[in-house]
Amino acid sequence: MRNYQQDRPLTKSAIVIGGGLVGSLCVSLLAQRGYKVTLFEKRGDIRKLESANGRSINLALSHRGRQALKLIGIEDEALSHSISMKGRLLHNINGHTKSVIYDPVSNQCIYSIGRNYLNRALLDVAEKDPNVRLCFHHKLTDVDFQTGFITLKSIKSGEILQTTADLIIGADGAFSSLRSFMQKTALFNFSQNFIDHGYLELCIPPERGGKLHPNHLHIWPRRELMMIALPNLDNSWTVTLFMPFKKFESIRNSENLLHFFNDIFPDALPLIGETELKNFYFSNKPSALVSIKCNRYDMNGKFLIIGDAAHAMVPFYGQGMNAGFEDCFLLNEILNETRDDVGRTTVLFTKKRQIEANAICDLAMYNYEEMRDLVTKPSFVIRKLLDTYLAKIFPRIWIPLYNSVSFSHMPYSKCIENKHWQNQILYATFSLLILVMATLVVLLRAI
Ligand SMILES: Cc1cc2nc3c(=O)[nH]c(=O)nc-3n(C[C@H](O)[C@H](O)[C@H](O)COP(=O)(O)OP(=O)(O)OC[C@H]3O[C@@H](n4cnc5c(N)ncnc54)[C@H](O)[C@@H]3O)c2cc1C
Repeated sequence: MRNYQQDRPLTKSAIVIGGGLVGSLCVSLLAQRGYKVTLFEKRGDIRKLESANGRSINLALSHRGRQALKLIGIEDEALSHSISMKGRLLHNINGHTKSVIYDPVSNQCIYSIGRNYLNRALLDVAEKDPNVRLCFHHKLTDVDFQTGFITLKSIKSGEILQTTADLIIGADGAFSSLRSFMQKTALFNFSQNFIDHGYLELCIPPERGGKLHPNHLHIWPRRELMMIALPNLDNSWTVTLFMPFKKFESIRNSENLLHFFNDIFPDALPLIGETELKNFYFSNKPSALVSIKCNRYDMNGKFLIIGDAAHAMVPFYGQGMNAGFEDCFLLNEILNETRDDVGRTTVLFTKKRQIEANAICDLAMYNYEEMRDLVTKPSFVIRKLLDTYLAKIFPRIWIPLYNSVSFSHMPYSKCIENKHWQNQILYATFSLLILVMATLVVLLRAI
């Protein structure tokens, strides 16, 4: 066993576990503050791999993510490698489409960005900082909260090392190792909820990608299930099919599959291609979707979990990464506030973030229903029209839910509160209108 102490830091030292999107951003933010930071990632360096399998190929980047990227100076570069999506393009079962613009008042967009590109760009930024040391192929295997030491194993050599730092951050994803050690301590509550729908990634190749209306997030809403497509820079589209596991299991052979697609997604089938569809579908298994909540993210004044490790959510609001980036933004703000008092910072992080993270986990769950079902309902269309109209008249007061989540940094819980009072006002106004009309009818009849 090698005992390993970090070199004396410039001011303070930090360790980040997990070099995914959130971990690699966090490393740069801390290094910028003068922390000497070591990143431990169990996998190899993604920049040396052809592709990262098993995860969505592109993601929707929105305001919260952008503001964190701005802090490390790569917002503009990231946007220049992305494709703007100004609205949803809904495909009905007959192949007719309808565009629903996210923000008809001020034309704000979300952006489709490659996961691999972004992860590589973040690691490049981190690596350029002399305060950063990147250690790939190192897996967190043990944590001693009393002494503050953690144990890592080198995947390549099998060597074990023990180390510590002033601040130890777990950005090690939904199945976080650091969190699993926290879960064994008293008063740490945790919930994990797998939904009974899974997802499978398909693709529309570049040569047929031009047939889809550009600059939109395409949705094929089908009540019990849905398919979406996000654009890539090479003109291809990443298509994700979300449906109950039972439905996935019921499609057993090519005939079933083509029949299903012809029935449910007739306009998408020629774009994906029959042969390609069969290959994708039968050579991959649907992945599960999980929502995770914890009652705290800090431990012993030194340890903190962020990103999916703290609050994994189902992907239907396109906020998992954005919320994880916002964690980094918030951490930076709290470190400013406490003047780098790490103990107070970790406690304050839980205090400020936990309600918000729970709120976005709930919103993400709600949005699945909106995307696969509610968007097709007349009530949704009417609400969208009313929201647009009222947002035009009262731009500072009437902020529709989607806008507050995706185009602002309003606390997520406040976004929900806003939606509630807006619902109440609309409900009261409609009730009043009906009452006035009914009274008029009665009066007119009496005359
Ligand atoms: C289908 C799908 C679509 C999505 N779309 C969007 C979207 O449009 N917009 C959006 O904002 N979000 C989206 N998300 C969510 C987003 O992918 C996640 O929120 C984000 O990737 C979380 O990043 P992370 O760094 O916290 O975790 P991860 O990306 O899971 O990274 C964790 C890292 O930790 C490493 N690690 C794990 N255990 C250890 C260990 N013991 N020791 C060392 N290293 C370890 C892993 O190898 C990994 O590199 C989507 C998710 C899915 C599933």
